[in-house]
Amino acid sequence: MSLKPRLIDSFGRVHNNLRVSVTDRCNLRCVYCMPEQVEFMPRERLLSFEEIARFVAVVAPLGVDKIRLTGGEPLLRKDLDVLVRMLVAIEGVSDVGMTTNGMLLAPIAGRLREAGLERLNISLDTLDSVRFERLARRRGLDDAIAGVHAAKREGFDPIKLNAVVIRGFNEDDVAPLARFARELGVEMRFIEYMPLDAGHLWEREKVFYAQEILDVIAREVAPLAPAADQDPRAPALAYDYLDGGGRVGLISSVSRPFCGSCNRLRLTSDGKLRNCLFALEETDVREMLRSEAPEEAVAQAVAASVAAKWEGHEINTARFIQPDRPMYSIGG
Ligand code: SAM
Ligand code: SF4
Repeated sequence: MSLKPRLIDSFGRVHNNLRVSVTDRCNLRCVYCMPEQVEFMPRERLLSFEEIARFVAVVAPLGVDKIRLTGGEPLLRKDLDVLVRMLVAIEGVSDVGMTTNGMLLAPIAGRLREAGLERLNISLDTLDSVRFERLARRRGLDDAIAGVHAAKREGFDPIKLNAVVIRGFNEDDVAPLARFARELGVEMRFIEYMPLDAGHLWEREKVFYAQEILDVIAREVAPLAPAADQDPRAPALAYDYLDGGGRVGLISSVSRPFCGSCNRLRLTSDGKLRNCLFALEETDVREMLRSEAPEEAVAQAVAASVAAKWEGHEINTARFIQPDRPMYSIGG
């Protein structure tokens, strides 16, 4: 049993997982995430690499051992490999990963791998270039696919492809994406569309549910069964192809919320700590980091945020309130 001090909330959930957004800027404008016209944060409000590393060095002794870099598009932050190197060197950090749209990945993949980045999630919602442009409001499919191949070449492990499925938009991509990932030997994960879009245009009718995704794959790709080595704390439900053709993950935040096993905290690019993706309140740690507040004070603020964490999001109730920050500004 670990004797490390741990970040445990009032529901007994142990928090060991931190998602760090390094920027709110992005080179795409995905309809489920960003508005078409967007005003990004002034650069001086973004945490520096040193401030991020300082924060991680405070939470690592509290049991946070897994870090994931995200954004906005994290690869818009120059020399991200420098940050990776800083984080990997922090005692207690065992795992640094990144979620990216992959468009800028190919040229820097080798440097990131050398710096110690291991896990890579690449978002890819479609293999059709016209649909890509409709979903992302920008061109970029070829660059994103080049990023996927570069990741494979550099030996990132694991590599997961993430697709948000929106009814009426890209449900026809479920089978082609599943086949693409299967042939490449990487896990394909499908994400239910969540109410975190900038325009507050989410509607339940637009959610293409995990069960529907499974049905499409079983019918059009190959039969699946629940994975025997399912990690109960992972957000994705894992299914394996019966013919040994790999794994599919389903992130069913709407139809089967996984709040009961949530182990995540989020640090926004402007230094706000969020204890839930859907949190309505945040803790400002940027000023503490900038004013060189003592480590114990930062640790206390983190512990207080964890202690105040609610039981779970309320998407499926009339009480649900969508947070003001859309996904790109939280860090998905
Ligand atoms: N730009 C990077 C990318 O797209 O991978 C990292 C940031 S993005 C906000 C992280 C993840 O959030 C992506 O996989 C994206 O598809 C997902 N996402 C964004 N908005 C979402 C929404 N409304 N519902 C479900 N997933 C969403
Ligand atoms: Fe950018 Fe990622 Fe949001 Fe798309 S999902 S707009 S790539 S941050």
